Parts: sequence; structure tokens; C-alpha cells
Amino acid sequence: MDAGQIVESASTAQIFYEPKHPYNQALQKSIPALHEKGETLHTIPGSPPDLSKPISGCPFAPRCEFAEEKCVTSTIALKEISDGHFSACLRIQLKEIALSPAHLPEKALARKVNC
Ligand code: SF4
Repeated sequence: MDAGQIVESASTAQIFYEPKHPYNQALQKSIPALHEKGETLHTIPGSPPDLSKPISGCPFAPRCEFAEEKCVTSTIALKEISDGHFSACLRIQLKEIALSPAHLPEKALARKVNC
């Protein structure tokens, strides 16, 4: 969820190992590796949206590295993009970007467990 909106819905394994929303991917990059000391944590730039004001388009747009104008001007609904995997990312829905586990740091992939 981002700003009270469901942005991705799928099985646990899909959410962790086949992220289909840049916010989910950014959150996973921020998970610290407990066995590595001195590592600089990945942070998501900017601040969460002000929920006292209406949000136009994607709530993650101000902080998303893939954002384009249409992300702010479009109404974006959660859409099934593969079997049982739903994303509210417009650019994923349009197949303009693809997020793969390769985007995740090796430390995140190393933590893969049976989900
Ligand atoms: S809709 Fe646009 S701004 Fe929102 S997550 Fe997707 S690419 Fe980023």
C-alpha cells in the first residue's frame, strides 16, 4: 500500500521475488542485510504524500525514478498483469518498464525462502 491505496497484490513469493510496482521494489531495496555491517541503507527520496490534499494520479510519482507526466495526469486502477498478480503502476501495465529480481540487490535475493 502507498498513501492508503493498494498498489500491488499477488502471492507472497511474487511480491518479494517478482515485484511489479516501483514502490514495492524501492521498499525491498531498503531492507537491511543484518549480516553485513557498515552498509549504507538505500532510501526512498522525498516524503510520503500529504494525505490532507487530493492526490492526482500515482501517489508514488514524486518519488519514483520511472515517473512520467502521464503517471500524474492519469487515473490508475489496480490491473491484473499476469496470473493472480495485480499492479497499479501505469508504466508496468503499458509494458514500458519491467522490474525483475535482477533489480534487487544480491543480498535480497540471497534471502529467498520458500513462500
Ligand atoms: S505509475 Fe508511474 S510514477 Fe507510479 S509507480 Fe508506475 S512509473 Fe512510477
